[in-house]
Amino acid sequence: MINETVISKATSDIPSIFDVWKARRRISQLVSKTPLIYSGEISQECSSRVYLKLETMHNTGAFKLRGATNKILSLSKEQQKRGIATYSTGNHGIAVSYVAKCFNIPAYIFISNRVPEAKIKGLRNLGAIVRIQGASQDEAGDYCYKEAAEKGYTVIEPFDDPFVIAGQGTIGLEILEDIPDVDTVIVPLSGGGLLSGIAMVLKSSNPKIKTIGVSIEKGAVMYHSLKAGKPVVMDESDTLADSLLGGIGINNQYTFSMVKKYVDDVVLIPEEDIARGMAYILKNHRMVVEGAAAIGVGAILGKKVKNLDRKSVV
Ligand SMILES: *Cc1c(COP(=O)(O)O)cnc(C)c1O
Repeated sequence: MINETVISKATSDIPSIFDVWKARRRISQLVSKTPLIYSGEISQECSSRVYLKLETMHNTGAFKLRGATNKILSLSKEQQKRGIATYSTGNHGIAVSYVAKCFNIPAYIFISNRVPEAKIKGLRNLGAIVRIQGASQDEAGDYCYKEAAEKGYTVIEPFDDPFVIAGQGTIGLEILEDIPDVDTVIVPLSGGGLLSGIAMVLKSSNPKIKTIGVSIEKGAVMYHSLKAGKPVVMDESDTLADSLLGGIGINNQYTFSMVKKYVDDVVLIPEEDIARGMAYILKNHRMVVEGAAAIGVGAILGKKVKNLDRKSVV
């Protein structure tokens, strides 16, 4: 039996498609393959057959379950026993709490005193130990690292971690399984864990597949970092796609260089197109999805991605 924790320490390089195959096997006990559906209505808007990858169908409602599961199951039994920690209240925090509960691992979620009661309740219901510290998410993050270092918890990063990236990359394998002749893949982009993993898998398999990231106009940190040639910091504002808020980290180690290497284009979407995407999916597919999940459809409706070839996946 190979000791995976030793291997993970030895390779601080960006993850490869081989790591994604390992992730796929590791997460299969908890994470099911999601459906890929044809969207006739959206296809008529552009000259491409458009398919939607339904990542909202996971038990926790978002793809974050893939990366969190891969990371947590890659830890040693000893690390798992000591506990894991994170500082996200969103889909990543929910995913970490859920996986921890499934495997009886103590999970500490650090949040600021601004987080609404309903979110705290939701995390507690999932069995997480909620630590309310600091006046902002950044401050909560500082407490998280400090206490993790003192108590020996492992911090589960939301995107800038090779195991998290490899977990999200399993979406790329599933897309290739269902549509091996896909031409373009359109992916929501914030910290870049999702896009890095998927784009690396696609480009490693067929460099001709086009990979496009979509960000919110009001918080396009990766977009501006790529322009500046290094990670930048930006102020946050309100958006319909709240799951796309947050920076990429000034000491970004993986996702910045992976997006640079594997992604063809990043486009920015205004708020009204996110709303159009949500309304479109509700009307045509009878599904209610959060803003971040509708941004790719919004990009097509708003003509922000053009010249799509025969087959596209959002
Ligand atoms: C986290 C998240 C994203 C962005 O993922 P990154 O890896 O941070 O780029 C997009 N959509 C949803 C629903 C999310 O939860």
